[in-house]
This record gives sequence, C-alpha cells and structure tokens, in this order.
Amino acid sequence: MERFTGKSLLERVAIGRIYIYKKQEYLLEKRNIDDIEGEKKRFHEAREAAMKELQGLYDKALAEIGEEEAQIFEIHRMMLEDLDFIEGTESMIDGEKVNAEFAVSETGTTLSNLFASMEDAYMKERAIDVLDVTKRVVNRLAGVEDGGMHTKDPVIVVAEDLTPSETVQMDTNKILAFVTRKGSSNSHTAILARTMNIPALVKTDITLDDKYQGQEAVVDGTTGELYIKPSKELMDSMVEKKMEIDRKDNELKKLIGQESITADGRKVNLYANIGNVEDTKKVLENDAEGIGLFRSEFLYIGKNTFPTEEEQFRAYKAVLEKMEGKKVVIRTLDIGADKKADYFNLDQEENPALGYRAIRICLTQPDIFRTQLRALYRASAYGTLSIMFPMIIALEEVQEIKKIVQEVKEELQRENIPMGDVELGIMIETPAAALISDDLAKEVQFFSIGSNDLTQYTLAIDRQNEKLEKMCDTHHKAVLKLIRMTVENGHKEGIWVGICGELAGDTTLTEQFIHMGVDELSVSASRILNVRKAIRECV
Ligand code: PEP
Ligand code: MG
Repeated sequence: MERFTGKSLLERVAIGRIYIYKKQEYLLEKRNIDDIEGEKKRFHEAREAAMKELQGLYDKALAEIGEEEAQIFEIHRMMLEDLDFIEGTESMIDGEKVNAEFAVSETGTTLSNLFASMEDAYMKERAIDVLDVTKRVVNRLAGVEDGGMHTKDPVIVVAEDLTPSETVQMDTNKILAFVTRKGSSNSHTAILARTMNIPALVKTDITLDDKYQGQEAVVDGTTGELYIKPSKELMDSMVEKKMEIDRKDNELKKLIGQESITADGRKVNLYANIGNVEDTKKVLENDAEGIGLFRSEFLYIGKNTFPTEEEQFRAYKAVLEKMEGKKVVIRTLDIGADKKADYFNLDQEENPALGYRAIRICLTQPDIFRTQLRALYRASAYGTLSIMFPMIIALEEVQEIKKIVQEVKEELQRENIPMGDVELGIMIETPAAALISDDLAKEVQFFSIGSNDLTQYTLAIDRQNEKLEKMCDTHHKAVLKLIRMTVENGHKEGIWVGICGELAGDTTLTEQFIHMGVDELSVSASRILNVRKAIRECV
C-alpha cells in the first residue's frame, strides 16, 4: 500500500481504479508513409472509434438533455460516413503517400471551407462541425487525450493539473474523484469538482508514474489522503466511512421540498451555480430554487471555434425549460485569465487576472457580445431569465451594455422573435464596483456578489497561486465589509442582492449573510442542502 497526501476540496470518499491523465500537446505533422493500405486501415479504425464515441455522446445527451440537443452528435456521426470525407482522405493517402492524421486534417479543412462559402446560413454553420469532427478523428489517430476519458468504468483521475477546458470535456459519469499534483482550491477546476460533488485532492505529492495506471485506490476527502493498493483493513474502514457519509446525505435529503427559511421566518432564495446544461440535473435533484449563476463561458472553452448563436440558444433554452419557470441567471461570457480558448487569440499577458477579459472583451468585440445576447433574448421566451454581466468596474460600462442590449432587443422585435421579460444585473466582484455600488444600483435590477474575484482583488492574492493559499483569508474583514456595503446600497435602491461566489456555500457565514440582509445565495449543487440546513437553523 502507498499513501499520498493533498489538500482536500470535498469531504467525500471514492473507491476505484486510478486513471493517469497526461496532457499531450499534439502538433500536426506531415509524414511520408510506405504502407498505404496500413495507413488507410488506421484511418478507418480511428473513424469508427470516433463514430462510437459520438454514438455514446448522442445517447447520453438524449437521456440527460433532450432530442433536439442530442441531434448535433448524430449530425457529427453522419459526417464521418460522408463519402466526400472518406474518399477525399483515402485518395490523399493514396496519391500523396502521407500519414492519415495529415490527410484527415487537410480533407476536413477543405470540406469546412466549402461549407463556409455557402450562402445558406444552416450550411455555413456546418463548417465548424466539420472541423470539430475532423479533430476528433485526428485525436483518435494520434492517441491524444482530448478530455474524453477512454475508459469503460468510472475512475479516479490523477493528473498534473487540469484546466477548466479539460475538465469541461470529461465525461462526468466516468469520474469518481480528481487528484492533482498542482491546483488551488479557488480555481475553476476546484469549482467544477464541487459541482460534481466528488472528492478532489489538489497539491498531492504523487508522481504520475505509469505503474499506478489501473491500480485499486481510495481517496479519503475527509483527511486529504490517497491510498494506492490499500490493505484490507484500510479498505474496510473506508467502506464504513463512505457508508457513514451516505447516511448523512440521506439525512440531508429530508430537506428536499422544505423551504429555505430561518427560524424567525426570513426567506432566502437558495439557488445553484452551473457550467453547462447537464449540471441542471444535479440542481433539480438537490432541490435548488433557481439557478443563480450559469457560467456561460464554459460553452466557449474546450472548443475549436466560437459557439454559434443557434448552439447557444439551444443550451440556454434547454436550461430554462428544465427549470420550468424558476429563475435562471445567466452570466455573459467571462473568458480570460485561467478560462481560455485558443480561437480568441488572446495575447499572453503579464497579469491575466487584471487583463483583457470578460466584459472588457465583450465591449471591445461587440460582435461576440451581440451573438450571445441574441441567443439569450431568443431563449428568454422559454422561462424566467435574468442576465448578468461580469467584472464591472464603472458606471459607463453598464450604460454601454444597456445600449447594446436595447439594440439587440429592437433587432429581434423587428424579426418578430418572441421574448420574455428579462431582468438585468451585474456582478459585484471588483472592489471598484462594491465601492460605487450606490451609483450602480440605480442602473440595474440586481447585484450578484462574486466573492471569489472580490477576495482576489481586495486582498491582491491571485486565486490561482497555490503558494498564497495559506494567506488567503476568505473571511477577511475587508471582503465582508464590501459585501455588507453592497447589500446596503442595493437595498437603498430597492434591488435584490445575492452572492454567487464560493463563500455563499460556506455555512459558517450563513448567519452573518442573513443578518446583512443578503437575499439570495447561489452555491454548487452539492452544497444546496447543507446551506438550507444552515438557513433553517438561523435565528
Ligand atoms: C466569482 O468571482 O466569485 C464568481 C462567481 O465568478 P467566477 O468564480 O466564475 O470568476
Ligand atoms: Mg469572477
């Protein structure tokens, strides 16, 4: 038995086999080959593996999201049966004697350009799909991990570090726990682990040795330990611990259907944070009363190109419909810093957290912003939508946003597209916004406090920097003062104020937040019932 330790993010236990996840950067190269038939065989094997994967994704999406949303995987699968694609690739391998990776990539690019040049808007959009599907086959050929877990059974993922774009592409049904050598507890990957309600250890002293691949292991999130090849005694005690946690979960489940109300009758809106459509399932299972933060940037990262208006519309509509009229707060694109996508072509910056990100990108590249706003307003007809804007620092930004929003709405009205009533709000996650929240409150219908960034910018502590974690006092008086100030200023103007950062799920602060007058707490789905319990115990 071997034992490793790390910093635990969630007090749960996982038992299963290790999956060593190694990042691989694949650089496409052109190689000359002799065995033409062998290369064609490789191409067909990879094509078939990709089709199988797509079938699996279709089935999963159909079960979890719905027919309309699942359709895209079927379209991708059919593209791999397309004769132009197959024959184009084969004739390139034949004629130019090049490796299959190169032939697939070239054929895919040619077909994609063909689609892009078409007049019809639907066909134009398919250009992106062709590139997506081409990449899938190239990855299979090159044996590159693309976030897909190539395992049949659920596993304990052990990695150096995981970026949000890697985690977002993983099949969550196949992950029992995350164990990373790096990482901080405030990173977005940590937030995702909490959303998934699985144990996760960061800063773990394990090496990514292949000898651990497939070994039986236990992650004890209550102590921050990882055991590989555990002894029988240890395994027995872990099974017991896991059962105890399950018993506590069942106790908490009794709060499903109960109100989030204090003993003296104060109602708090208890909402959940999500990063994609599938997360909605956990939100409903845990009985959240709405969605307080949909991090829409997760629709953009882990992709090769911008999500289209149609793609975004489908995702927003799916969430709104699943929530059946309950409030859904969708945050506009908050890309930048650790949340990256290559196709944005963002420069390397000295201080990305203080850099060109979020609303700053949206206001300087309005086409990206308008596409998202169109998708949001089109979806608004299918539920109760609120839109909020991240990283605000100035009144002028809010005024500029409102101008663009008005133009988008008028455009949709001219197109006779139905829309619902949409509340507009902003995130208060910079000290600047908190300090001018009296003025900002006159412009919007709600505030949602992003305590993760508010803490980072107030304490000047990079939330990604693992070395500074010990110094990062999440209960710092300065942060709590800014929260109180924001609530008071919001209430003076009659608007509601919530918290959607990780602090909202910290039950040691629930009572204090309620006394400040916070109207809404939006937390990871796995924290909903814990926070409901804390609210009900407050006086
Ligand atoms: C925050 O900053 O608190 C927040 C909710 O946004 P994110 O964590 O996505 O930056
Ligand atoms: Mg933030």
